[in-house]
Amino acid sequence: MTLNEYQKEALVTAVFADDEFKDLMHWMLGLSGETGEIAEKLKKIIRDKDGVVSEEDRIEIIKEMGDVLWYLAVLAKHFDTDLDEVAAGNIKKLRSRQARGVISGNGDNR
Ligand SMILES: [Mg+2]
Repeated sequence: MTLNEYQKEALVTAVFADDEFKDLMHWMLGLSGETGEIAEKLKKIIRDKDGVVSEEDRIEIIKEMGDVLWYLAVLAKHFDTDLDEVAAGNIKKLRSRQARGVISGNGDNR
C-alpha cells in the first residue's frame, strides 16, 4: 500500500463537520493526542520496565503510529495535499540539509 492509497482509505473513515474550523481543530488535536499516546506508552516502558520494550509494547506502539498516520492523512487533505507530497518534500528537505552539513541545528528553513 502506498501512502496515497492509505490516505484515500483513511478519508473513507473520516467524519466531517459542517464547520471547517471545527474539522481543523479535530484533526490537529487528534494528531497531537495520538502522538501523546505514543509518548505515554514509552514513558511507562521507561518508568516501569527499565526501558525494555516487549513484543506487546511494540505492537501497541505500532497501533498508535497508525492512529498518528490517520490524523496526518486527514490533516494533509485539509491542506489540499497528499501523503506522497508530504513525504517527498520532507525527504528533499532533509537530504538538502545533510548535503549542506546543517542537519543538526535550529531553524525550520535552514
Ligand atoms: Mg490511539
